[in-house]
Amino acid sequence: MCRTKKTQSIMSLVTVGTVAFDTIETPFGKAERVIGGAATYISLAASYFTKDLNLVSVVGDDFPEEELQYLRKRGINLDGLEIKAGEKSFFWAGRYHNDMNSRDTLTTELNVLADFKPKLPADYRDAKFLMLGNLTPEIQMKVIRQMKKQPKLTVLATMNFWMDVAMPALKRVLKKVDVLTINDEEARQLSGEYSLVKAARVIHKMGPKFLVIKKGEHGAILFQGDKMFYAPALPLAEVFDPTGAGDTFAGGFIGYLAKTGNISFENMKRAVIYGSAMASFCVEEFSISRLKKLRAAEIRGRVNQFHRLVKFTAK
Ligand code: AMP
Repeated sequence: MCRTKKTQSIMSLVTVGTVAFDTIETPFGKAERVIGGAATYISLAASYFTKDLNLVSVVGDDFPEEELQYLRKRGINLDGLEIKAGEKSFFWAGRYHNDMNSRDTLTTELNVLADFKPKLPADYRDAKFLMLGNLTPEIQMKVIRQMKKQPKLTVLATMNFWMDVAMPALKRVLKKVDVLTINDEEARQLSGEYSLVKAARVIHKMGPKFLVIKKGEHGAILFQGDKMFYAPALPLAEVFDPTGAGDTFAGGFIGYLAKTGNISFENMKRAVIYGSAMASFCVEEFSISRLKKLRAAEIRGRVNQFHRLVKFTAK
C-alpha cells in the first residue's frame, strides 16, 4: 500500500482489531453487510482526537476500496492493513433483544482472520499508545511482541467469545496490558465473582492496573486499585443500533489519552466521559453512519451534557 506518513509523533496510537462486514437486526430494522469491525469503530472514534493513527488488520478483496479511502481521509494510516486477494473479510451477524442492551451472535465467520499473521510496519513499532481491539488473543500477543519497547499505555478489549474458546491465551495477554475494557457479564465470567468490586480485585491481579467495566445503557465504571469512578451513559430517547458502542467507547477513551498524553487516574476519568460521549453518538444510527458525520462541536456539547447530568452540590 502507498506510504502516506514518514514520521511518528510521540503520542502515536496503534490499533489492532477486526475490519469487518456486519449484518445487524434490531427491533427497528435490519442492515445487511454493513461496515463494522472493532478496529473500524475504534480508529474512527479516535480520529476525532488525534491524527497519528495506525491500524493493523486484515480484509479480503471484497472490502470496498471507497470505505478504506474514507478511513485514510480521516487520517488513519492503513499501511498495517493487509488485503488478501481472493479471500473474504471477517463477517459477524447479531440480533438485538427488545431491551437493546443484550444481543445474540448469529454468525461469526473468521474468514481472513483465521490465519492472520499481523506484521507491524517499522514505524508502528515505537508507538506510545497501543489499543488491542477485540480479536484472537494470539494475534493480540503477536502485536505486543513486535513493539520495540513497551508503550506508555496498552489497552485491551476482548469479549466472552474469546473467554470461551481461548482463555489460557487471553490470560497471557492480560499480563502484558495496563487497561482492560470489558462488559459486566464478561468481568464476572473472567473473575468468577458476581460483585464487580470483587471482580475488579481479581482482574487487577491478572495484570491490568486499570479496569473499565462497561454496563451498556447503565454507563461504565473505572477501577484502579481501591479507586473507582462511575460514568453514566447519556439517557437517549432513541437507541437505533448499539453495535460498536463498546469499541467506539474504547476509541474515544484511548484517543483522548493519546491526545493529552496524560495517563493519570484523574485524566482517565475524563477519557471515560469522552469515550461515553462517542458511544452515545454511535448508537444513534446503523453501522458507522453517525460517526462518519460527527462534528467537534457536537462532541464538546455532549461532554457538557454529561457534566450537567452528574453535577450536584452536596450540602
Ligand atoms: P461491540 O458492539 O462494541 O461489541 O462491537 C461490535 C463489532 O465487533 C462488530 O462490528 C463486529 O464486526 C465485531 N466483532 C463481533 N464479534 C467479534 C469477534 N469475536 N472478534 C472480533 N470482532 C468481533
